[in-house]
Amino acid sequence: MTNITLALGDITEQSVDAVVNAANSSLLGGGGVDGAIHRRGGSDILDECRDLRASRYGKGLPAGQAVATTAGRLPARWVIHTVGPVFSTTEDRSATLASCYRESLRVADELNALTVAFPAVSTGVYRWPLDDAARIALTTVRDADTAVTEARFVLFDQRAYDAFETALNALP
Ligand code: ADP
Repeated sequence: MTNITLALGDITEQSVDAVVNAANSSLLGGGGVDGAIHRRGGSDILDECRDLRASRYGKGLPAGQAVATTAGRLPARWVIHTVGPVFSTTEDRSATLASCYRESLRVADELNALTVAFPAVSTGVYRWPLDDAARIALTTVRDADTAVTEARFVLFDQRAYDAFETALNALP
């Protein structure tokens, strides 16, 4: 069974087997979590991302999918890059957001990664409301069929932490 834990802090500092990156489909870096991972992890990660673009994802990594690289200078061993959906008020993209978590765990299983740190995918630049994103993230990870023993949600500020804590306590 996967133990779900919450932490307040910076995902680049987590000593886990794999950290999940809230990437964009270009895989070539961006702001938020993505910027922090590339800044702290060094250029090896970006080099591998460029190779993935050239070999497997010429049009970019689609939203809801996940792919791994090594983690450069980060304490983690791997970075699992996933692309969250941009929040929309006219279209329900919840299934794509859930897929980010499910696919990240599937990739973690392929790597034999037992401990995985997740950011709150889509809640930054992609504007997904925190409470709803937290509910989707936690439900999906709780229900996933995975060998991962710890899924650690790393929340960057108190507001995000509180949203995840409330959602965790409210899980049916
Ligand atoms: P997205 O484009 O999927 O919305 P962002 O990286 O913009 O991704 O933001 C996702 C969430 O991660 C936001 O809640 C943001 O506050 C948070 N965040 C930003 N930097 C970090 C970091 N270094 N560690 C953990 N969370 C972070």
